[in-house]
Amino acid sequence: MAEVKAVSKDGIAVHTEAADLPALHETIASLFAAQGNWERAYQHLRSALERDPLTSGYNRRFLDQRLAQLDGHHVALAMVDIDLFKDVNDTFGHLVGDRVLQRVAALLKQELPRDAFCARYGGEEFALVMPGLTAREALTTVERARLRVARYPWHRIRPGLVVTVSAGLTARRGRAEERLREADALLYAAKRAGRNVVACPDSEIPGQIRHSR
Ligand code: GH3
Ligand code: MG
Ligand code: MG
Repeated sequence: MAEVKAVSKDGIAVHTEAADLPALHETIASLFAAQGNWERAYQHLRSALERDPLTSGYNRRFLDQRLAQLDGHHVALAMVDIDLFKDVNDTFGHLVGDRVLQRVAALLKQELPRDAFCARYGGEEFALVMPGLTAREALTTVERARLRVARYPWHRIRPGLVVTVSAGLTARRGRAEERLREADALLYAAKRAGRNVVACPDSEIPGQIRHSR
């Protein structure tokens, strides 16, 4: 991914890691349109519409469309939220916060199985969508993602910077709204349990929540 340099308000150079993929697609679309190649222009415009400008990952629009298509199928969904992210912005500034968002997005999507994807739900929240994974497989996948974030050398970006995520995970058949509501409720359980943890329904005791650590 291209590195882009920006300067924060205190004059410190900040590297942003993600090239603005939607803008790139838009530029390519306009080049194809100028040649009268409407099919290729349309493809690139579509790609621009489904990407988030900050992280270049999938956006909420893409997530909503894909989740609706998966209605009724067995799908694992994790809502992942950066812990105490407001403190990161307040302490290190919004440009560092942006860079953390980009790196978290990259770490979350690493090692996802085929057909799975990560989308930015909004703000500092991401959704991991893992069609066909059992609850156990999904928990392993999300827990590994949590650990990748927790173990990343954040101090290399700024001394004292620490970043963790919490997640709520549901794996069942259902409709998009039900999945999102359940994953969200579990995410709040993870926050209440002290953060930096994945919460999911206990497979043995109905109605009970299990935590990954
Ligand atoms: P919790 O562990 O309970 O989730 O605490 P939190 O501080 O992460 O949650 P809160 O909702 O209080 O703060 C979220 C922060 O995320 C506030 C908002 O400014 C920041 N944020 C949202 N989108 C962006 C963004 O695109 N860039 C930056 N730098 N910050 C963002
Ligand atoms: Mg949040
Ligand atoms: Mg948060």
